[in-house]
Amino acid sequence: MLRPYVILTISMPRLLLLLPTTTYRTAAFVEAARRIGVDLTVASEQPSTLEAANPAGFLTLDFEQPERAADAARVFAKQYPISGVAGVDDTSALVAAAIATRLGLKGNPVHAAMAASDKYLQRGQLAQAHVPIPRFVLQNLEDDPAAIAQAITYPCVVKPVRLSASRGVIRADNPQAFVAAHDRLRAILQDPETAAACGDRARHYLVEEFIPGYEVALEGLVVNRRLHTLAIFDKPDPLDGPFFEETIYVTPSRVPAGLQAAIRDCADRAVRALGVVEGPIHAELRYNEHGPWLIELAARPIGGRCSAVLRFGDTGVSLEEIIVRHALGMPIPSLQRERLAAGVMMIPIPGAGTLREVRGVAEAKRVPLIEDVQITAHPGERLVPFPEGARYPGFIFARGETAPVVETALREAHQRLTFVIE
Ligand code: ADP
Repeated sequence: MLRPYVILTISMPRLLLLLPTTTYRTAAFVEAARRIGVDLTVASEQPSTLEAANPAGFLTLDFEQPERAADAARVFAKQYPISGVAGVDDTSALVAAAIATRLGLKGNPVHAAMAASDKYLQRGQLAQAHVPIPRFVLQNLEDDPAAIAQAITYPCVVKPVRLSASRGVIRADNPQAFVAAHDRLRAILQDPETAAACGDRARHYLVEEFIPGYEVALEGLVVNRRLHTLAIFDKPDPLDGPFFEETIYVTPSRVPAGLQAAIRDCADRAVRALGVVEGPIHAELRYNEHGPWLIELAARPIGGRCSAVLRFGDTGVSLEEIIVRHALGMPIPSLQRERLAAGVMMIPIPGAGTLREVRGVAEAKRVPLIEDVQITAHPGERLVPFPEGARYPGFIFARGETAPVVETALREAHQRLTFVIE
């Protein structure tokens, strides 16, 4: 007689990963999920051609409507249970918060993700919590800039409320420069795609006191309300404006230990003030004779390809693996960055025009300590300098015994590159 038998299917935890359509992050997260052995559902705004063949692996969500996206995720989760959710940029982090709240998953409350992605809201909450920030005022793009120019103090910084990567951030030292900055920012915010991304904030902008000083970036992971600092990056090139294109990030920081503690404390206070309780954060801070200042805190990891600069523990665990493990409530082997110094250069945009060719990549890769040179701009691509643009044409990575040798290697490799633009 045939004996009845039971088929046991062991299902792995499933992460719902929210990826904007134009992102560099996909490969690193897919690799992290593969290494850990968890199931992955990639959700983005455009339907994937693979969705029909692999319905568990892909999901289309409207990132502009977080609550609707959360409804759709709940329906999806009935068929394919989800154990964790993660976003990678400001917009997807907000959607992740809505989904986490709806499905009872680990994540931030929606108000915290909102405050982290809206510079005006953020400033208000930080000010209330007495976190040191520049003086700020919200202005309407339709108001007469000449009148505003007479009423503010200089130097100041104008910035959009809901963009990132320093896009549209402009320093002005006098009324004339302010009016010019205002007009430039208005043109940026009138671009239909940008306006859609900014939603109802596209008509406003911030004017802030310019904080002089040395800038660092802090990469962190919040676990159950507690901020763990993963790395403090020095930004050795001065960021004095008028535009704020990033170049080199190098860690460990050469800032004195006491000051690093004050920087960590400032970021920690900002995390609490905004109500961020779980997940990655990326913060920009400056310091001067008055101590640290919080310039911005985002509830998402470092952008672009830069995360490749970070490796953790003895086995070189990636930042993406840490994020995936944390979102799924899995043990994290180490939050301790490796012993070596590491750095990345966001290659400066060489000028306006159409990229024809990049020469010297092989020579740049041969510079000692250089780990990789990734040119992300394609021949034929239009390069748009700051403040209108914000897309670096590529990234250079280096690793070595000390931060100064890593920084030198990055500069040498960059010198080997020639961008041919028309
Ligand atoms: P984004 O989110 O677009 O990167 P930020 O507010 O972080 O915008 O500003 C981008 C950069 O501009 C900062 O990293 C910093 O170098 C500079 N910056 C912004 N605001 C100020 C300020 N108030 N004082 C001095 N520098 C500033």
